Amino acid sequence: MIHKRRIGGDNRGIGMTSPGTRERLVQRLREHGIADERVLKAILQVPRHEFVDEALSSRAYEDTALPIGLGQTISQPWIVARMTEAVMDGGQPQKVLEVGTGSGYQAAILAQLVPEVFTVERIKELLRLARRRFHRLAMHNIHARHADGHLGWMSQAPFDGIVVTAASRSVPEDLLEQLRVGGLLVMPLEERGGGQRLLAIRRTEQGYERTDLGGVIFVPLLSGLE
Ligand code: SAH
Repeated sequence: MIHKRRIGGDNRGIGMTSPGTRERLVQRLREHGIADERVLKAILQVPRHEFVDEALSSRAYEDTALPIGLGQTISQPWIVARMTEAVMDGGQPQKVLEVGTGSGYQAAILAQLVPEVFTVERIKELLRLARRRFHRLAMHNIHARHADGHLGWMSQAPFDGIVVTAASRSVPEDLLEQLRVGGLLVMPLEERGGGQRLLAIRRTEQGYERTDLGGVIFVPLLSGLE
């Protein structure tokens, strides 16, 4: 069999970052219960290898979390897909907030599906790198800010959806307040006995309804800036 090299293509990792590799990841996510075709299409469109260090790019389409430096990780693709599916459940959000920009990958996936994405990160260096990726990939509908996500993004509220990609013991009050009625807040919550659960919290006219989406592992939601 002759392997043709794609002219002008990305040969990093010797074919491991090719569109075919991304298709296999999408197939795997489908087999593992991700059903929203909009989300699967977004996974197919976004080059995850652009969101990790070059040394790890050959592993970018494995369904696994990877280190992004400064003690943080880019979430596993299945988790990104599941959270995106959950925040899009039952509608088409216009404006979504993400807490914990990290590599920027989750924001990039949201940006394929939602007209306006707002994302906040407490570590300045990670934010700088993420912004550079958004710029390079011409993702102009992502607005990124160096801030403590516990406070949300007041001047842009209310949001149709909020995705928190770090775990905390309680749901920050400001995030609940910045959610529009009918909107969804998706976040991992630490349990008293150890472990974390992914929750989807829908704001209704009467209050907030919680759905447990299963066990997960996230880095902690920390306070203050770095
Ligand atoms: N969504 C990211 C996942 C990054 S891991 C991605 O797709 O790559 C979670 C991130 O949340 C880390 O970068 C961490 O620095 C950040 N974080 C933790 N606490 C935070 C807070 N209070 N406000 C904003 N970001 C926070």
